[in-house]
Amino acid sequence: MNPAARALLAPWRRADLWVVARGADATQAGACACCLAPPTHLEPARRGVRAVAVPYCAACRRHVHAERTRWLAIAVAGGLAGASVAWALALAAPWCSAAAIALGAALASALPWWGLGVARPAPGHEVAGAAAWVVADGALACASEAFARRAASDPSRARRWVGVPVRWALSTTTLAVGSALVAHALLTAEVRVLALTGDRLTVWADGRPAAVVDPARGESSAAGVRVRLPTGRILLEARSADGSVVDRAEVIVERGRAHLYAPGDHGRCFWTETAHPSDPAMGAVRRPLEGSGPFHALPEIDIWLAPLPAPAGVRTSGGAVTALRQRPCTDAPVRAPELAPVPAGL
Ligand SMILES: [Zn+2]
Ligand SMILES: [Zn+2]
Repeated sequence: MNPAARALLAPWRRADLWVVARGADATQAGACACCLAPPTHLEPARRGVRAVAVPYCAACRRHVHAERTRWLAIAVAGGLAGASVAWALALAAPWCSAAAIALGAALASALPWWGLGVARPAPGHEVAGAAAWVVADGALACASEAFARRAASDPSRARRWVGVPVRWALSTTTLAVGSALVAHALLTAEVRVLALTGDRLTVWADGRPAAVVDPARGESSAAGVRVRLPTGRILLEARSADGSVVDRAEVIVERGRAHLYAPGDHGRCFWTETAHPSDPAMGAVRRPLEGSGPFHALPEIDIWLAPLPAPAGVRTSGGAVTALRQRPCTDAPVRAPELAPVPAGL
């Protein structure tokens, strides 16, 4: 391996290791696993339910314990760094995608591993931390070749192995990526954009391109594009293919709600239909959407731009089912804000 790559990997790479097959008794080596001095203590090396007693001298036992503390500190620092960067990015740059925020957080969570992970062994010592530990197949990985050969009942059962301690690094990276996804989900909300003008629309949010939407005039559950936009007040602008502005509106994107943006066509009406499939006799209730203009914060929608299915065809736990519907206003059943009950079975 070239020196630059070796230096980059240094914190991740324990050493060239020697592996003693599962079942070996490390105490029979009669030597400290690090410096080969007469052992004074046995330290358990654990993985899952498997534990192996590893002999150490007093000095080496101290650096084994110190390493555990150091690694815990690195893992905590990595987790905090990743979670902090995730929230800072999501707050300061709400336009970043979830993937970009997750990548930033993952890189931040890895930094302490480079900053703190390099520890040189003292003179006469093989390693600066633990000198033997249990690996995936239950075998014992040893930093010292001489110790591995002594611990193996048959020296030929000790084989060379390169170990990379990724488990703790993965746990902090997972925490960082999880924080990024949670932060992004909490600080943005879904907006479904429809192009009802018969023209392909480009939607800009606060001057940034947010979506390109193909036209779909009819009621179709596949119509439109879903985007996530930062919560709060934003300026939406829709332009047609020739660049002319079809709609411009300052809107409020609400946390935890889905929204509808249908710019340009003022002759189109939207409403919701809610039914209780477990009790068809109650009938469906139609409601116009909250607010006026092309932007609406929506109630919980189960069925997008399609009729409610017939009661017999719905599998439900008993809760209400709500569909979002649209039609030309001249043909829409609901335009006024009052409730309009529908006979059962429609
Ligand atoms: Zn020792
Ligand atoms: Zn040592």
